[in-house]
Amino acid sequence: MKGQLEQLKKEFVELVDKVASREALEELKTQFLGRKGKLSGLMKEMASLADGERKLVGAVANEVKEAIEAAFGEAEQKVSKASWSATAAKEWIDVTEPTFHARPHGTLHPVTQVQQELEELFTSMGFMVLDGPELESDYYNFTALNIPPSHPARDMQDTFYIEGKTGAAGKAGSEETGWVMRTHTSSFQVRAMREHGVPLRAIVPGRCFRNEATDARHEHTFHQLEGVVVGEGISFAHMKGVFQAVADHLYGKGTKIRLSPKFYPFVEPGVRGELECFLCKGKGCRVCKQSGWLEAMPGGMIHPNVLRQAGIDPEKYSGFAFGFGLTRLVMLKYGIDDIRHLESGDLRFLNQF
Ligand SMILES: [Zn+2]
Repeated sequence: MKGQLEQLKKEFVELVDKVASREALEELKTQFLGRKGKLSGLMKEMASLADGERKLVGAVANEVKEAIEAAFGEAEQKVSKASWSATAAKEWIDVTEPTFHARPHGTLHPVTQVQQELEELFTSMGFMVLDGPELESDYYNFTALNIPPSHPARDMQDTFYIEGKTGAAGKAGSEETGWVMRTHTSSFQVRAMREHGVPLRAIVPGRCFRNEATDARHEHTFHQLEGVVVGEGISFAHMKGVFQAVADHLYGKGTKIRLSPKFYPFVEPGVRGELECFLCKGKGCRVCKQSGWLEAMPGGMIHPNVLRQAGIDPEKYSGFAFGFGLTRLVMLKYGIDDIRHLESGDLRFLNQF
């Protein structure tokens, strides 16, 4: 009897070793441990044994049963692991494999690149970067900047007037009537002063619009970068310092700048800020039209009338403002000879940046 049990155990261990699938394993289990299985058959025979012997054989029978169950457990683990690795092998991908179908990703527009470069510089000097509306009221674009409706300076900046648009206030003569596409980022000067008060140090980069007949030097859409600084004791010297910092940053340390008088209605005095031509270093070339200088940084001390429009006392505070031609700076930096390339959306042009 004992021998038969040992034989059964040996038989099971040999068979279970060869099992490869879950189904075969289940079948083997029924064959040996099931109600009508080989082990129960032997256990039934035990009933006919004498008491002493039955006890002895019973102990062996339990041992065999446990051994068979343990072997079954192991085999079950082995089978499930094997089926898992079969799935894994089927679904395996190499994530490091190079792909030949990568989507090409674009680059930043050259205007955006120079704008971000300048934003970084101005932020390091404590300026806020503000964003103003492109559709602006006639008031903020002209009147608040010392250009009332009858002023001849309006002729210098013909733009797109928007019909039928009235603002929240909507009343004739109010600040929110007569809408235009802003002709300059200066339109945000008074808004910025009203919103943020004094002291103020801010730049406003953005798109501007003019009703232009387009050619290599004129475009209906272009970019400016406005700067406004207002506080106690702000002088011309501060403005010159900022211009020098921008020139050094964009075109290298020691780039010469030159300021000469120029009229703008919203500054007094106003300056035509010029950079030494970075191509010919002042000797004269095609880009600078043989003058050795490039006009790129107009500015001046904010007119007292403009400060008053913003509710700031010009007796107590002073400030300066400038409106860099961002588009012009980009054209100079990359030697772009036709302004129309910038808004063309032509990939042959844009892919170069
Ligand atoms: Zn030059």
